[in-house]
Amino acid sequence: MRVLVTGGAGFIGSAACRRLVAEGHAVANIDKLTYAANPKSLAALAGDPRYRFERDDICDAAAMTRIFAAHEPDAVLHLAAESHVDRSISDAADFVRTNLLGTYQLLEAARQYWGRLPAGRASRFRFIHVSTDEVFGSAPEGRFREDTRYRPSSPYSASKAGSDHLAGAWHKTYGLPVIICNCSNNYGPYQFPEKLIPLAVLNAFDGRPVPVYGDGSNVRDWLFVEDFVDGLLAVVQHGAVGQSYNFGSGRETTNLEIVEQICATLDSLVPNGRPRRALISFVPDRPGHDRRYAIDPTKARNELGWRPRIELETGLARTVKWYVENPAWWGPLRSNIYRGERLGLVEARR
Ligand code: NAD
Repeated sequence: MRVLVTGGAGFIGSAACRRLVAEGHAVANIDKLTYAANPKSLAALAGDPRYRFERDDICDAAAMTRIFAAHEPDAVLHLAAESHVDRSISDAADFVRTNLLGTYQLLEAARQYWGRLPAGRASRFRFIHVSTDEVFGSAPEGRFREDTRYRPSSPYSASKAGSDHLAGAWHKTYGLPVIICNCSNNYGPYQFPEKLIPLAVLNAFDGRPVPVYGDGSNVRDWLFVEDFVDGLLAVVQHGAVGQSYNFGSGRETTNLEIVEQICATLDSLVPNGRPRRALISFVPDRPGHDRRYAIDPTKARNELGWRPRIELETGLARTVKWYVENPAWWGPLRSNIYRGERLGLVEARR
């Protein structure tokens, strides 16, 4: 396959690029290289004739048209987005621009390109829109199914919800072969150190306070990034056009449990004589913080044969070890781009 990946210099996108090329597919990676991108995540692909990189903004209509014509993809994996909830609370402009306008421009460029493909290739073409379980909002009970109502809470999840609706409309109205993936929180190597797990790993490693929002009882369903990439490939190959699929481990863990486990893993990997859980520091909660996300992955399991393969303990141990062994990847980010400061607090109304 020839696959056009957007946001391939980010966390999940780089894992997808590495896997696709390893499996013999040709990849064109379109990325604007925002603060969240790290070309070092793609170092293994440098010089590989199956891999091409284009620095472009998905909001640029002419660039997207040119890219479809130049790379003639069989499938699109659309991952480019502004992805950090706290940043969306501080300033939502880039979220609305990239996640809504950018998705619109990409859908339009894909529609024009797909409309001109010969019938056989057009029927095999797929546009995979990558989204989040956060569009469903907080789940007081039960688990998110594909037909759960959208109730986004944050500017980030609202912009993703809007992009899901655009993608769905481009299928219903124009027939574009769209499939939507709603995934729970991913973790693993190469994740930008503003997100909970890498932030906790690096702060605990450095002996700095490890911030936990509120009382740490918010529940998430963590999925190892390689498992989600498995799911994306299964969707490209076996997903039903016009459908959406939920991906998650089906296991619920509180943020406090995650951070405690990270501290314990670091203690055994690089002991420093003092249990690192003493560094855990409870900080004011995130405004609008969803209490619980919980995925029901039955549809992906039954229709795609997908299953998560990496248990949380194994994936966390692997992730912690990767950060400990790869300071050249995260060091420059921690010194130059994000120093661990608190983002996304809202001033109280007077
Ligand atoms: P990320 O922030 O690590 O990477 C996003 C990438 O998109 C970056 O490389 C960035 O440079 C690029 N990008 C941003 N704006 C762009 C633009 N206008 N044009 C071109 N490129 C642009 O994100 P991630 O965590 O890898 O998430 C990827 C996708 O998966 C997102 O759509 C996100 O909403 C979704 N998702 C993420 C998670 C998660 O836990 N990380 C869970 C479910 C869904």
